[in-house]
Amino acid sequence: MNRPDLLKELATRPLVCDGAMGTQLLALGFKSGECATLWNVDRPADVRAIHDAYLAAGCELITTNTFGGSSIALDRHGLAARSAELNEAAAKIAREAAGDRAWVLGDVGPFGDFLEPFGETTAEALRESFRLQIEGLLAGGADAVLVETMSDPAEAVAGVEAAKEVDGNVPVVVTYAFQEAGPGVFKTMMGTSVEEAVSRAVAAGARMVGANCGTSLDLGDYVELGKQLAAAADGTPVVVQPNAGAPRMLGEETVYDATPGQMAAAARELLQAGVRIVGGCCGTTPEHLAAVASAVRHG
Ligand SMILES: [Zn+2]
Repeated sequence: MNRPDLLKELATRPLVCDGAMGTQLLALGFKSGECATLWNVDRPADVRAIHDAYLAAGCELITTNTFGGSSIALDRHGLAARSAELNEAAAKIAREAAGDRAWVLGDVGPFGDFLEPFGETTAEALRESFRLQIEGLLAGGADAVLVETMSDPAEAVAGVEAAKEVDGNVPVVVTYAFQEAGPGVFKTMMGTSVEEAVSRAVAAGARMVGANCGTSLDLGDYVELGKQLAAAADGTPVVVQPNAGAPRMLGEETVYDATPGQMAAAARELLQAGVRIVGGCCGTTPEHLAAVASAVRHG
């Protein structure tokens, strides 16, 4: 059986995305300062095992291990020239794991600095870096592109435009990281409102929009944010990938305390709020996503 078209399937039922990649890499011995994207060629079996665990949990969309895979981000590890190779390798691992039973999202994370005029990178240079990354992701078999953890709509737009340059038909998802700017008021770190974030992404051609990660949001905040995103998106499918609750510092470590049951309860509320794809971000595990998948399928 061939997998159906993602957007057509989404029109008929809500879908479950996977949870954190970084949290699982850390559990497998990833050290800060290492290049996570390099694991796609140095430790492919470990990356595959993470995908397998999320698929076994019932996730229907899995995300490539390429959050820092743009050439600009890779340049910090001296690996800029390997962007196409590393992204293609990552997408192949995810595609092999998913087969035709799940969709693969080619992950594009922030390049890690500010665009002009706050930083030195031009939108054109960023678009070119994203284009190389996305070429690799699609060559490796990704079904769609996920431009995630965005703070600046101009960066999100660069990601959407880059994807369209590579393949005018590939569906692009844009998700932003929001923080609470006042009671029930959410903005990105750059001060962008929910409405502006959504409208800029959709105007550029994103076919799905939403939120992932976020700063100090609890699960109730993600539900409220989901309502606001659904209102702003006006029919464009909304994706929300919450962290496992608000982070808490334990010594040097950031910990997330939400249980699988709490994540599942939040997933039900997110669906009621009009969200169509629910997954997880920092602190979430296959156990959390198994509870979310069950809630999305069976209510
Ligand atoms: Zn996160």
